Amino acid sequence: MQAPLKLEAIVLRSIRYGEADRILHLYTPGNGRIAAIAKGARRARSRFGARLEPFLHVRLVLREGRGDLYTVTGVDTITAHAGVRDHAATLDAASRACDAVARLFETDDSHPEVFALLANELALLDADPIHATPANGLSFRLKLLLAAGIVPQLAACATCGEHEHLRGFSAAAGGVVCSSCEAAAFPLDEESYEFLVAALGHPLAQTPPGSDRALRQVERAITDTAEHHAQVRLRPVLR
Ligand SMILES: [Zn+2]
Repeated sequence: MQAPLKLEAIVLRSIRYGEADRILHLYTPGNGRIAAIAKGARRARSRFGARLEPFLHVRLVLREGRGDLYTVTGVDTITAHAGVRDHAATLDAASRACDAVARLFETDDSHPEVFALLANELALLDADPIHATPANGLSFRLKLLLAAGIVPQLAACATCGEHEHLRGFSAAAGGVVCSSCEAAAFPLDEESYEFLVAALGHPLAQTPPGSDRALRQVERAITDTAEHHAQVRLRPVLR
């Protein structure tokens, strides 16, 4: 009999399974994304209570099961992030943040910085709905691209290395491109460029504001990059 595994996790998704069970998609600091079954979790008198809902930061005791699915044998709440459920905007932003993590980091590779970033995003949304902005959602995704090793090149033209006239963005080239290399790029305003640089250079809580036009260009840069370099289609932040 193997020793039980004890680890921290954030619940990304909690799916009804069978008559009374739940399948959990979890993100952990040291074991990346894993899945576990919580047997009897939906019974009224389950010992798990409501501690296996999405966005909860928990301490789990797991037993290795068949295949990739662990079995939950114990759970303690570290942070419930209950305030996230008080507003439609924070609930939506938190659900999209968990979804982006699940799509970009779908293996058990260890990415403690992704865990810390998600915990930080959920704490911000829990603390104040003012953080549930498109700019915050885009800044969070840019930081995920950085953790995934596919952050766009911003310092110089991704094609020729030119430092001036960076007027376009090309995911295929790997970042911003200059006016002579912009054939396959889409136009990137100065403001959008400044947002990309500032969002990556500041903590999530200090995400700069941006005009709708700039944020649309930023979103396109992020979604193009995730599709081109990770074959991942992210749910849009802007509608
Ligand atoms: Zn160039």
